[in-house]
Amino acid sequence: MSTNLRSFSLDYFNLNGKIAIVTGANKGLGQAYAVALAKAGADLFIVSRSGDCEETRQLIMEAGRRAECFQADLSNRKEVKQVAAKCVEVFGKIDILVNNAGTILRSPLVEYREEDWDKVMEVNLNSLYLLSQEAAKVMVEPRSGKIINIASMLSFQGGKFVPPYTASKHAVAGLTKAFANELAEYNIQINAIAPGYIATDNTAPIRADEKRNAEILSRIPARRWADPSDLMGTVVFLASKASDYMNGHIVAVDGGWLAR
Ligand code: NAP
Repeated sequence: MSTNLRSFSLDYFNLNGKIAIVTGANKGLGQAYAVALAKAGADLFIVSRSGDCEETRQLIMEAGRRAECFQADLSNRKEVKQVAAKCVEVFGKIDILVNNAGTILRSPLVEYREEDWDKVMEVNLNSLYLLSQEAAKVMVEPRSGKIINIASMLSFQGGKFVPPYTASKHAVAGLTKAFANELAEYNIQINAIAPGYIATDNTAPIRADEKRNAEILSRIPARRWADPSDLMGTVVFLASKASDYMNGHIVAVDGGWLAR
């Protein structure tokens, strides 16, 4: 028998003393991830474009944890590069990074504007790469860290009217594996969550389109849109010791969409 069987407990999911960065945590899924990590014991460094993260900060404080807000436009590489350093200045370390901020701009393929392609790729892919690299530099020496990227169903499928979103989310899946391969030996685990269809501002236009909404619902085995809270358990698991031997996975939380 392994001698470790007796040491396993729910404490493996405990994040007490951990410092977590969550980007785009002022609302939507990022807010749910930040609150989940706080409820599991982590203190939070919240990155938002406007700098207004009051609602999220309040929820984190209600969970008894500390929250610091930092304003950064992640389409600006100079600002991206300040995030990790600022977190270290405030909290002294980075244990967990959740690359959640993302944008989606919809238009038919043949009309898709070059500047919209650039904007989506900059926020969804380039900022994730740069911020992960900066965080990894901090995690290598203590030989400990978790990076959780937010992928999508469009990391697996083509989608419609969102070519750079699809390209960026496929690339996020690839980068998750590339980072995981290089950093596993430093006890840094990189995995991704691929949310299915979640009711947030990001998906408001398709939920408002009766035909599209019905199409989507009829294809989800769970027969409902997810609430951001449906993702909270997965982020805690991937941020915790309970997932220390998971590297480079894209974990779908999708009500069965991909299994269909
Ligand atoms: P959301 O409600 O639209 O939130 C997006 C977040 O990203 C907001 O906090 C937003 O800040 C931030 N953001 C966007 N551009 C930014 C920039 N240039 N600089 C800094 N922050 C920026 O979307 P969500 O549904 O919660 O999505 C969160 C993540 O999950 C995204 O990566 C998305 O692709 C992914 N996802 C969502 C779904 C879904 O069904 N909702 C499904 C799969 C994947 P502002 O408030 O300042 O704009």
